[in-house]
Amino acid sequence: MYGLKTDIALDLPSKYYSLEGYEKGVARWCPGCGDHAVLTNMQKLLREKQLDPAKTVFVSGIGCSSRFPHYMNTYGFHGLHGRAFPVAEGIKFRRPDLDVFVVTGDGDCCSIGAGAWIHAIRYNINMTVLLLNNEIYGLTKKQVSPTSRIGTISNTTPDGSILPPLSPVQTTLGVSNVSFVAQTADWNPAHMYETIKAAYEHKGFSFVHVIQRCPIFQIGLVDELTSNKDAMVYLEHENGITVSEEIAKTFKNKESHNPTNLSAARDLAISQEKIYMGLLYQNKNAPCYDDYGASNLGYTVEQKEEALNRELDRYAI
Ligand code: SF4
Repeated sequence: MYGLKTDIALDLPSKYYSLEGYEKGVARWCPGCGDHAVLTNMQKLLREKQLDPAKTVFVSGIGCSSRFPHYMNTYGFHGLHGRAFPVAEGIKFRRPDLDVFVVTGDGDCCSIGAGAWIHAIRYNINMTVLLLNNEIYGLTKKQVSPTSRIGTISNTTPDGSILPPLSPVQTTLGVSNVSFVAQTADWNPAHMYETIKAAYEHKGFSFVHVIQRCPIFQIGLVDELTSNKDAMVYLEHENGITVSEEIAKTFKNKESHNPTNLSAARDLAISQEKIYMGLLYQNKNAPCYDDYGASNLGYTVEQKEEALNRELDRYAI
């Protein structure tokens, strides 16, 4: 056998990364927490795309879901509350060769991090963002979050919250230069997988809203969605997120929606009766700020020094 000459050339990658290669430690989320399903799907995506762990970065803020980088065998930055986006932007801005992911929660993103979130959408820097929304502060044991529904009983709202919740999807769709908005749920892994895959393949700020179960502090939160099949609608379109025929059968309700239509996407997002799963909006031509930032990356040290001196000379008296 050995030494036989053949014309067949196998196109094998120089190194194959297995699923185990992306795993790190034992996730310390509660049993039944939706975060486990997101982690598994993310590791599967990295394996399918064969992302080099040395060139992949997960950035998070603070919260249960923000423990995500600890469980990925890649680079990671578990940062300050609400500040995942500026860190991720800085990384991508200077190292466009890296794949950057942000995992954030509803408190982290929509409350203390809201300013950073809005501007990250507008800057449209190429990264994949997962907002894991369980409508509560879980890590600090049950305080009301900006996405909590009216009537939510928590340690900070013992008589029930009184304000209407902020919709992450609606908000994201309202920001100028938005380029990708999709929605999925942790209990439909096949749909979630295709959704985060589409987000990763999009060039720009890909925002995925994941409806996430917290069986400890939000018991029964998604019972209506899981028991009433009329409540969820699967968005279909040739340019949308497609799932296998087998999986598509699990969706009782389907609706055609062209994801290039921003106005139609906003109409879907404000619906109070139905939750729309899939790709709500995509603009492949929205300008990405990192494209401009990368223009001087090839400068030598001398060129940088010269450019700096030139700038400083402008202010010489
Ligand atoms: Fe998950 Fe809730 Fe437990 Fe946090 S408190 S790990 S969100 S189940």
